[in-house]
Amino acid sequence: MFHISIIESIHPKALEYIDQHPEFSYEVIEDIDEKNLETKLKDTDAIAIVTSKLSAKILENCKKLKIVSRHGVGFDNVDLDTLNKKNIPLTITIKANALTVAEHVFAMMFYFNKNLYAFDKSVRENKWDKLKKIDNNIIAINSELYNKSIFIIGFGRIGKELSIRCQAFKMDILIFDPFINDEDAAKYKVKKINNIDEGLSIADYVSVHVPLTNETQNLININNLKKMKSNAFIINTSRGGIINETDLNFVLKEKIIAGAGLDVLLDEPPKSDNPLIKNPKVIFSPHIASHTKECWERHGKETVQNIFDFFDKSLDKKAIVNRAEIEL
Ligand code: NAD
Repeated sequence: MFHISIIESIHPKALEYIDQHPEFSYEVIEDIDEKNLETKLKDTDAIAIVTSKLSAKILENCKKLKIVSRHGVGFDNVDLDTLNKKNIPLTITIKANALTVAEHVFAMMFYFNKNLYAFDKSVRENKWDKLKKIDNNIIAINSELYNKSIFIIGFGRIGKELSIRCQAFKMDILIFDPFINDEDAAKYKVKKINNIDEGLSIADYVSVHVPLTNETQNLININNLKKMKSNAFIINTSRGGIINETDLNFVLKEKIIAGAGLDVLLDEPPKSDNPLIKNPKVIFSPHIASHTKECWERHGKETVQNIFDFFDKSLDKKAIVNRAEIEL
């Protein structure tokens, strides 16, 4: 019998899933105070953790711990050095949220090209005019994704899920990712671009899916934003800091590009003096691109599944963050 300690609540269906495995017992620990965790985790075999902190002190004190399973993909709340030292794997839920974030990118693209919010308002305010008139000329303001091009920067799990959905809309898909080979690009029917500026200058939509690293910080800045088309939109559901916010605000104000969709910001929540907040060409969401009911359930089940697979010796090594640092 192995005992799983679940720190903070996970989806009830994930708990039911453990109940179906009589070789595992579990406890949900709501009190995340360090002292309480030290006591509670001392004799546990596995930890499932959401966002609370697993410090070196807590982990040093775990005498029987064999695996830590993180609910999500980020893991800066877990002291990895201690796990490496103790030869304990840390897993993440690599399958759960990619499609969810990809759908969020679509929500933002549709926000820009279908103007539903503005049209809803016009109907409610008894302004039925279906077409906008500028200088007495009738202008249709909506547009289609069909035949438009999208430039996906970072072609990992989310970038790939996004490309699959863009294929269905018959979009042209360009990608930039130095770690993707031509074979992989061909498999997903996308065109690999070796120069970021080239992709930015062609695309109608740009979507950012790289991790935040020293290399990707300010990857998108005034120099390459200026290469974009004036009717193009940029969407960031990755991490704040990858697009330089001051530069983005400038190109939006100067009409160098048409709009931006931001799920992530450098400061979350943003400071009140962040000029982007007052910029009507930006649509925001509060870092919730992967927050759906379905995704929450998948995260919970995958968190638990990683623990089952570890004890079953069938764990997908790609899910182990520290696979290079420990002996498996
Ligand atoms: P992933 O690791 O599967 O893919 C990242 C890709 O970026 C990889 O293919 C890698 O080769 C590529 N890459 C790395 N450095 C690059 C560079 N300098 N230029 C171009 N490509 C580069 O990760 P993922 O699951 O697709 O997630 C991408 C990012 O999305 C994560 O790092 C995370 O920050 C973010 N994310 C956000 C949310 C949200 O709720 N908004 C949810 C999940 C993930």
